[in-house]
Amino acid sequence: IGDSYGKKDRADRATSEQVLDPRTRMILFKMINRGDIFEIHGCISTGKEANVYHAVTELESHRAIKVYKTSILVFKDRDRYVSGEYRFRHGYSRKNPRKMVKVWAEKEMRNLKRLYAAGIPCPEPLVLRLHVLVMGFLGDGKGWAYPRLKDAVVPEQEYTQLYFNLLKYIRQIEYNILYNASKLYIIDVSQSVEHDHPRSFEFLRMDINNVSDYFSKKGVQTISERKIFEFVISAEGGTAVEEIEETLKKIKELPAIYDHEDEEYLRKAYIPQNLEQVIDVERDVEKVKRGEQNQLIYRDLIVERNNSSTSEDDSSEEDQSGEYLESESEDEETK
Ligand code: ADP
Ligand code: MG
Repeated sequence: IGDSYGKKDRADRATSEQVLDPRTRMILFKMINRGDIFEIHGCISTGKEANVYHAVTELESHRAIKVYKTSILVFKDRDRYVSGEYRFRHGYSRKNPRKMVKVWAEKEMRNLKRLYAAGIPCPEPLVLRLHVLVMGFLGDGKGWAYPRLKDAVVPEQEYTQLYFNLLKYIRQIEYNILYNASKLYIIDVSQSVEHDHPRSFEFLRMDINNVSDYFSKKGVQTISERKIFEFVISAEGGTAVEEIEETLKKIKELPAIYDHEDEEYLRKAYIPQNLEQVIDVERDVEKVKRGEQNQLIYRDLIVERNNSSTSEDDSSEEDQSGEYLESESEDEETK
């Protein structure tokens, strides 16, 4: 008994200052009991979405513990990012902040694992329990966290190298493709977003851009990025493998193989994600009437949306309302 008292005390000391809710404290106690951590020290950072604490293990290794906040105000803000993803619409109740932060923490854990596995310098992901994430501590032996780049004193001559390292990391993240015997394999897709994520087109555009850059550097006569973009999102041309191959063949045979105008167009284009985002509907309708729909980058989207997504759009109103404020409040967590 004496022992567990001592453990409780150690967690209490650190948490009482930041007024953590009982559930979070219980998670921390259990982590101490399991030996994930031994002692929780001060708070490294109090953010809008999370607090980060410094902790040590019994063997004096340093740890960072990120505790996501379940308070309702923070939450509304975050919902904007997550709720666009279709799977989250049914995956958890958006009325339940505790479930939402759990999903958020899981997402961070997954991302960290990816980065870590890819050999990109980042904290080692260690333990995840609901909305509490334990990771390796990035700091000195005395428990001081490394400064953020914007606050750090960086020797002038290091900047160029840092820049190129960063570019390298970005590229490493992008390329999760394996090659063997004339075949490419796609791996590590846990982070891919659903097609109706608000930024899915932007991500797609970036992916296409990376792929084009890579293969054109290897001497491939790449197809214009705009055509690839349209090929990917188009509702026409069917989805069976043979149909897709047929469509691709047609695209390949199109005269302008590398069309710089198309390239510029796609890179600069504002791509609406749904019809509400189209800035000037009437102007665009006129274009279609004049047979100029080829100028509309989202023309295939119109077809797609009309066919497929009438029943699921029950959530758009909720998204904007301040609904959480009324929902059965998880009061002990919001204080
Ligand atoms: P948020 O920005 O959502 O509050 P972060 O994950 O960016 O949360 O963490 C906030 C701050 O805590 C960081 O800017 C950094 O100073 C510190 N921090 C976070 N994780 C670690 C870590 N693993 N090691 C050392 N310091 C960390
Ligand atoms: Mg941050």
